[in-house]
Amino acid sequence: MSHVSNTSVEEPAGQSREWNFHPKLPIDMSPVFDLPPKPKAALAWLLGTWTKLTPPVNHLAFALIAFFFFWPAMETMQTFDWRWVGQIFAVNFGSVVILAGALHLYLYVFAGQKMRLKFDVRPMEKSSRFTFGHQTWDNIFWALASGVPIWTAWTVLYFYVAANGWVPTLDGFSTSPVWFVLMFFVIRFWQSFHFYWIHRLIHMPWLFKNVHHLHHRNVNVGPWSGLAMHPIEHWFYYSGILIHFVLPSHPVHVLFHLFALNLGAIISHAGFDKLLIRDAEAIKAGSFHHQLHHRYFECNYGSEEIPLDRWFGSFHDGTQAATKRIRARKKLIFARK
Ligand SMILES: [Zn+2]
Ligand SMILES: [Zn+2]
Repeated sequence: MSHVSNTSVEEPAGQSREWNFHPKLPIDMSPVFDLPPKPKAALAWLLGTWTKLTPPVNHLAFALIAFFFFWPAMETMQTFDWRWVGQIFAVNFGSVVILAGALHLYLYVFAGQKMRLKFDVRPMEKSSRFTFGHQTWDNIFWALASGVPIWTAWTVLYFYVAANGWVPTLDGFSTSPVWFVLMFFVIRFWQSFHFYWIHRLIHMPWLFKNVHHLHHRNVNVGPWSGLAMHPIEHWFYYSGILIHFVLPSHPVHVLFHLFALNLGAIISHAGFDKLLIRDAEAIKAGSFHHQLHHRYFECNYGSEEIPLDRWFGSFHDGTQAATKRIRARKKLIFARK
């Protein structure tokens, strides 16, 4: 089914020699930056992604629940105290364990939808290249022992300076409703832009070999792989929240951004295209766009929001023609090293 060598020929969704399942090929990116402009398609894409129980809506749901029920008061965070730091750590730790744990148990331990809509044919690996010799335990370790503490450190830094009024903040929806809403869109596109450049940086030979390689040991990814990164990569990855030191933000914006970075990574690495509930395609899960990055390395550094990969010639649309092109590109990159 995927023995097509012409990118103009669309492949239907289904199975191929390389994948257990892939979405309809070629995969596309958001039409927001298409030229000539396609305002109708762009608006439909922007609004469409907000009307399903799928990222980014679940990031917003986690942000609202965390802020209204579990977050320390701003006045409390004006002075450094391990108690509120511990509270934030517990919220972060808990949300990762709940989401990654539930997805992993459902998809991999209880095999709730067996192989249906799973991208890769392989199971999670036992291999000496992983810490503890097992992919799952390795991924859990790096996510919880490095990811959550560094994510918490960035969160504490932001809320400490925001609570003290050292960065511009927003009181709430009523004071500037337009900016309040717009900011969620700004964050989505900023996250995509920041991730692309940080990701390109850590694909430079020295950083790849010593830092980013840890994440790339996962070729066949699962929910816990999303945050399984080297501590240096975690510091880079979360640095995107520096935007809130410049643009006026409400705590819900910052939490939305942080959950998008964390829960977004867990879901996009799920390894399954969608979650099936009672055999119906219910929730968008893994990103085939990023799954291709894990298999072919030197492609799809960014995400679907901003087509930076297309502009810089590293877009893999899932077709065999693209695989050939990316392999040639990889040879060129390695010849230069
Ligand atoms: Zn990478
Ligand atoms: Zn990844």
